[in-house]
Amino acid sequence: MKILVINAGSSSLKYQLIDMENESVLAKGLCERIGIDGHLKHSPLVGGKPVFDEDLAMPTHSEAIAAVIDKLTSAEYGVVADMKEIDAVGHRVVHGGEKFASSVKIDDAVMQALEECTPFAPLHNPANITGINACRKVMGDVPMVAVFDTAFHQTMPGKAFMYAIPYEYYKNDGIRRYGFHGTSHRYVSSRCAELMGKPIEELKIISCHMGNGSSIAAIDGGKCVDTSMGFTPLVGLPMGTRCGDLDNGVVQFIMNKYGLSIDEMLNVLNKKSGVLGVSGVSSDFRDLDNAAAEGNERAQLALDMFHYWVGKVVGSYVAAMNGVDAIIFTAGVGENSKSSRAAIAEYFGYLGVEIDPEANSKRGEDIMISTPESKVKVFVIPTNEELVIARDTKEICC
Ligand code: AMP
Repeated sequence: MKILVINAGSSSLKYQLIDMENESVLAKGLCERIGIDGHLKHSPLVGGKPVFDEDLAMPTHSEAIAAVIDKLTSAEYGVVADMKEIDAVGHRVVHGGEKFASSVKIDDAVMQALEECTPFAPLHNPANITGINACRKVMGDVPMVAVFDTAFHQTMPGKAFMYAIPYEYYKNDGIRRYGFHGTSHRYVSSRCAELMGKPIEELKIISCHMGNGSSIAAIDGGKCVDTSMGFTPLVGLPMGTRCGDLDNGVVQFIMNKYGLSIDEMLNVLNKKSGVLGVSGVSSDFRDLDNAAAEGNERAQLALDMFHYWVGKVVGSYVAAMNGVDAIIFTAGVGENSKSSRAAIAEYFGYLGVEIDPEANSKRGEDIMISTPESKVKVFVIPTNEELVIARDTKEICC
């Protein structure tokens, strides 16, 4: 059985074709500049076929999907003989609101419900919907599944997801903490339980997804009980370019003083803040590490703030769950930066965490980086959101 996983953005579309017999990736690729001019990079990973990396007209997502199918099935670049070999399609959808607590088979009623979730994610959901519509148009009645970034967090109790503002805003408008990166937190926490050889129902896990966007989730018995992102992905930790938690009064002060509109203000908070804003150097942690090593104090401050925030949020989740068995690092920074992991682990001393420096130096594999004596286990687990989407799609459709 072969499943196509699609992650559609407003002008881009990422894909992987996964063979579910052994969960191997047959081909992956990226369409870019959709609606502008169009470029496709298609990489077959089996059969010794060449990479296709060329400009290709893509006025809409439909042409992008058609190009993907064409390449997946072509004699020169293909990995399957015919579109009929693609049994189902799994789509990443950012926001499922309170309507979707798990993945769902797509039909007209689901499409309607997705439209209703759009006000919660006005930048992302329309692109996801466009991708699904294009796929339905090009691929006909191949079964399709929507997998939501928010769904895993729907188990949070009211005390964790409510904001202390008038209740009507929740009741009438759905204003609450939703959380994001749920597919990643779900994957790494279940993998962590496997690595520990224990049922997830018996474990308290804190997973730290630290990439360009970052969030932390408290997972008690396999269920998310709190997470650091909120109604939008803007809050929680300081991120690459997003500010994280901020006193709302600052927004009013800056808007008044500099005459910014709310859109301009949000652009500052989303795109010019975080470690980029503090350091003035970069949103990329590799650049920050290099600048800090050369003595750049603001780069060091940005790194220190990030590490401090991860340590502080993890501490709050230990309290929320009244304990913790394992802490996981994942995503770009979590998987690759041994210096950030070591700096963050300094905040875990009271938990009896001991990091094994040799294990912490390894990359690219699931690994326990704490010593065997460490009271709380610490893992690096590369995330794999596409695999979760494919697995859900298989379970629901096939
Ligand atoms: P992601 O959003 O998960 O793709 O993560 C992207 C981020 O990971 C980049 O912006 C970098 O800051 C970070 N990253 C990737 N490789 C490294 C590395 N070797 N050391 C430090 N940070 C890294």
